[in-house]
Amino acid sequence: MNDDKRIDGKAFSASVREKVKRQVETLQRDHGITPGLAVVLVGEDPASQVYVRNKAKQTVEAGMRSDEIRMEATATQAEVLEVVDRLNADPGIHGILVQLPLPDQIDETAVLDRIDPAKDVDGFHVINTGRLQVGLPALVPCTPRGCLMMLKDRLGDLSGLNAIVIGRSNIVGKPMAMLLLQESCTVTIAHSRTKDLPELCRRQDIVVAAVGRPHFVKGDWIAEGATVIDVGINRVPKDDGKTRLVGDVDYDEAVERAGAITPVPGGVGPMTIACLLANTITACCMANGIEEPA
Ligand code: NAD
Repeated sequence: MNDDKRIDGKAFSASVREKVKRQVETLQRDHGITPGLAVVLVGEDPASQVYVRNKAKQTVEAGMRSDEIRMEATATQAEVLEVVDRLNADPGIHGILVQLPLPDQIDETAVLDRIDPAKDVDGFHVINTGRLQVGLPALVPCTPRGCLMMLKDRLGDLSGLNAIVIGRSNIVGKPMAMLLLQESCTVTIAHSRTKDLPELCRRQDIVVAAVGRPHFVKGDWIAEGATVIDVGINRVPKDDGKTRLVGDVDYDEAVERAGAITPVPGGVGPMTIACLLANTITACCMANGIEEPA
């Protein structure tokens, strides 16, 4: 029975990527436009290399143009800004993503602020943050966009539901809370100074955990039938000396009470790249004044 409660992020992200592929075909056929996504990687961080390779692969599979710009770990700030300027000016590129973290000599904020907000498919630019805040069309960070898609797919109309977002980071917690507010949820944002968190959680229809602590949210924090979205990705040691990934929620406990819950791995994680592609479609359509194909 608990299998029915499991929200399958792998299958859902595949359906989002299929939709993106159809949208690309429509944009090419009806408007002669191929959406383009550029990913900039500075240095040789192994995890970043894997992310960038996966992003490029899925961009190509969706039928989009994919540019990968790899720069030495010793690249200067001016060199990185020059690349961003070039991509800003390229009409065939609709989305620009600079893979984080950047090497120490580079000011991350300065680089992210240099990206044309209309091409900011990560949704980190302060213009997009502000537009989301006031309810204007905006490019929204990929992970929260993916979480919202999953919630709407499972629950339909979210209006009037109580939702808690645990974590207030700029890339997950805050935009997630704003998206839920836009859906007319009553939103609580919890953080490291929040009091009585278990009790607060027990009052919620929706719990989104973005804390970065393994199994932080316990089963008895979850109201009977609530929907739980676990954003956390934590690597913990196993008995055999290897490691495994776990979420911020104690899945085995929480699944007994939740109505629906995302596992880790295989929940929110796969949605992030799918939403990056979806954001590139959004950016491409906004730039060309076209309504997004269905
Ligand atoms: P972060 O470290 O920037 O923010 C963590 C937040 O948790 C902070 O706002 C902090 O106030 C809150 N917090 C810390 N201790 C707490 C406590 N005891 N009680 C309540 N709140 C507490 O992290 P982030 O970048 O938002 O990421 C959160 C998690 O999500 C991480 O595990 C990260 O790896 C994961 N993540 C996953 C994806 C994905 O694609 N699935 C994307 C981004 C982040």
